[in-house]
Amino acid sequence: MQNAKKTLRDVNVEGKRVLVRVDFNVPLDINTGAISDDSRIRASLPTIKYLIEHKARVILCTHLGRPQGQVVENLRVTQVAKCLSHFIGLPVNISLDCVGPGVENEVKTLKEGNILFLENLRFHSEEEANDLHFAQKLARLADVYVNDAFGTAHRTHASTVNITKYLPAVAGFLMEKELDTMNKLLTSPAHPFACLIGGAKVSDKMGLIQNMLKRIDVLLVGGGMAATFLRAQGYETGRSLVEKDKLSLARELLEESKEWNIPLLLPTDIVVANEIKATASTKIASSTNMAASDYLVDIGPETIELFSRELRKCHTIMWNGPMGVYEIPQFAQGTRSLVKILSTSNAVTVIGGGSSAEIVHEMRLTDKMTHVSTGGGASLRCLEGLPLPGVEALLNKI
Ligand code: ADP
Ligand code: MG
Repeated sequence: MQNAKKTLRDVNVEGKRVLVRVDFNVPLDINTGAISDDSRIRASLPTIKYLIEHKARVILCTHLGRPQGQVVENLRVTQVAKCLSHFIGLPVNISLDCVGPGVENEVKTLKEGNILFLENLRFHSEEEANDLHFAQKLARLADVYVNDAFGTAHRTHASTVNITKYLPAVAGFLMEKELDTMNKLLTSPAHPFACLIGGAKVSDKMGLIQNMLKRIDVLLVGGGMAATFLRAQGYETGRSLVEKDKLSLARELLEESKEWNIPLLLPTDIVVANEIKATASTKIASSTNMAASDYLVDIGPETIELFSRELRKCHTIMWNGPMGVYEIPQFAQGTRSLVKILSTSNAVTVIGGGSSAEIVHEMRLTDKMTHVSTGGGASLRCLEGLPLPGVEALLNKI
């Protein structure tokens, strides 16, 4: 757990130039370039509205995509700024750049309660290099720095870390909410507490499983990583992705769960396919009886029932990672069924992971969950028990 950090409420912002690092790195449609999920923009509205109401001169900055230190026309912040303007019902002016004399002049004319949106930070390679001089140039624009970019807090970049050397640095309301939620899961969850873990690879989630196992009452494992656990127990896993170098770690976790008497449940039945394509022929198989030619692509109906029963008993549920190759509709049943269970549960439900959050938004069930994290990598890191550099750098409360 990290030290408690100062927030927006702990600083005077009236009349001040306040630089807010948001994470408006939203997914863009590959065909049209339109914003396909605006939830990260919505999530920072409380911070932005508070600053407007408290008469701050608001300067926003974000990265968008991976322009790798160059100006990329379709990664300009124009669209996200427009989207924000629509949500708050106020004009949002866009700067031509994020640092330099031109921007400094624009800031001079910025009035209380008005917003200036800086151009994509990653058009400068110095951003990702955590360049001190670049951080200083950004800091020159403002009197106070607010970090609301939870989704980027695990990165050591100029706008998240070195900037705090030059300005009083506090957390925004989204950052505060994300950290409070993660800390609650780590330190004082309501029991019984279940972790539902899926996704492609065991290696992505090993740290999380190791850190959470002793804090929970049951661990449910689906997705591609189930194959590694099944293989670790000696079962055939066909052509499914198995991380051979993680087999012994998987065995250790199975042992630990037994020692601590925390059930680690694997799928009992699975959906198998002869190829990972929408046109594949599929069938339901026992998870201990896979054919050598098949891929594990989803959890089966019996497992959906088993996992649902476990989840219904819980007062806290943390979900990270889809139960199958959900991008292909016929392999999405397991994931979608369990998302529905979570959405009707009275438990505290916390969703971490980019794909998992995307599914909840797409199913329009976001409001039915306690918290859907805006940071895949950052939430994972928190639950692994590791510090976030962007949070460490903020002022301590005491
Ligand atoms: P999140 O972003 O929610 O943390 P991950 O990134 O860990 O989730 O995993 C998401 C990916 O896992 C998806 O692209 C999905 O297709 C893949 N996946 C899930 N189950 C399987 C499986 N059985 N075989 C291969 N890939 C899988
Ligand atoms: Mg992911």
